[in-house]
Amino acid sequence: MAHECTASQAERLGKAVRLKTITMAGEDPAADPGYAEFLAMERLLRDEFPRAAAALRWEKLGSLALLLSWEAVEAGAPAGRAAGPGGAARPAPPFLFYAHSDVVPAADASSWTHPPFSGEVSDGCIWGRGTLDDKGILMALMEAVEALLAAGVRPSRTLYIAIGGDEELLGTRGASVIVKALADRGIRLGCVFDEGSVIAQGAVPFVSKPVALVGVAEKGFLNLEVSVTGKAGHSSMPGRGTAAGALSRVLAEIEKRPFPLRLTPTVAGFFKAIAPHASAPMGRLFRLLRPLWPFLKGTLSASAAFDAQVRTTQAATMLRAGVVPNVLPAEARGVVNIRILHGDTVEGVIERVRAKAARVMPKGFTLKIAPLPGGDANGPIPEARMPAGLWEELASAVQDAVPDAVTAPFLVVGATDSRRFTGITDGIVRFMPALLTEEHIGLLHNVDERISLENYGRMISYYTRIMRWAGNSVPGSRSG
Ligand SMILES: [Zn+2]
Repeated sequence: MAHECTASQAERLGKAVRLKTITMAGEDPAADPGYAEFLAMERLLRDEFPRAAAALRWEKLGSLALLLSWEAVEAGAPAGRAAGPGGAARPAPPFLFYAHSDVVPAADASSWTHPPFSGEVSDGCIWGRGTLDDKGILMALMEAVEALLAAGVRPSRTLYIAIGGDEELLGTRGASVIVKALADRGIRLGCVFDEGSVIAQGAVPFVSKPVALVGVAEKGFLNLEVSVTGKAGHSSMPGRGTAAGALSRVLAEIEKRPFPLRLTPTVAGFFKAIAPHASAPMGRLFRLLRPLWPFLKGTLSASAAFDAQVRTTQAATMLRAGVVPNVLPAEARGVVNIRILHGDTVEGVIERVRAKAARVMPKGFTLKIAPLPGGDANGPIPEARMPAGLWEELASAVQDAVPDAVTAPFLVVGATDSRRFTGITDGIVRFMPALLTEEHIGLLHNVDERISLENYGRMISYYTRIMRWAGNSVPGSRSG
């Protein structure tokens, strides 16, 4: 097939999969027995991509972050700047391509068709943990750099490849360290590319064509700890109930009162993009979504996927109270995981939940609602402001990958490592150009994670094209 990667590209991704770079939870990653796998990954990248090893600057930042700099070569201008008209130097903000090398464990190894860390190439796929999340992107980025170096390309703006090793945990030793290093150097990025969404087949209702869901905005994230304290005692004389019962009422009330539905510009833009491709009469309705919103919102929000696009969601995910059946628990605690829509804030969300909970709290108990300690909260990440021409280039690269695909701006509801970059860029793109069905997307973090040779080939072509464009799209630059 037209997009298939080469056998050697597949084999290199297989090698990366064979390294068990499982996210390490401890305080000191370098002291973890699993750390050797991360060091082996660094060696593998240098060994398999010798041109990149020679031409790029490799910096190890702390124990789990790697920053590869492919410096701009514009004559007479420092890195990250290009000569503008009249010879005046003006900034050409660098682009950064992010990937993470860590993977989630594969607990159920025996139920995999091919062992999770085999990296086997079979049935048109490369198999194993990390092929979709996120070693596929990592290795595709390196393949792109290597190919461009082989072709003699010299970028007119600096391109970074940034690799974090703890995305599946918190990103504090990976992405955060990279962001801090760049910020300390006074660098602002023109654009950051990360994982986050895909070219979805059959996932968008009423649209039969594949839809490239280009993640241009991201919801905020908050783990809210809700705790109720009361008196311990014997369960034969409970009085007016228990902390466990009070907490249950609070959580039930929170669940009963969802956040309001709201059509944000990003989501309106998504419907505008897909409307011409939706089956009648839905295409008409999508086109008129804004005026019809008051009438349509209730029906549309019946779908959990749609609902998550148009409101701040809240999900009680953890509960703990009591240790034995016949003792009143002195304390009951729960966690509500909240994904914050644009227009809401972390503080506003906490206030709202507090107000709802207070209405149903029985007397004699104390309620406390606060962000989960150590759980990291952030507000919604605004929609990307793209450098001129980039959106058109992305859409065109998507057409190359999947000719009948529709490209649409998309709100990513999960949290990505790229959110760490908000302080040093206005343009974050969360997108992997792989054509996936919902079933295939379900393989992420799951048994039989794999990527087709065709999709991997698409990713390599896409990143090669975007990097070439990025390196050439500097005002006043010559083609590389
Ligand atoms: Zn990932």
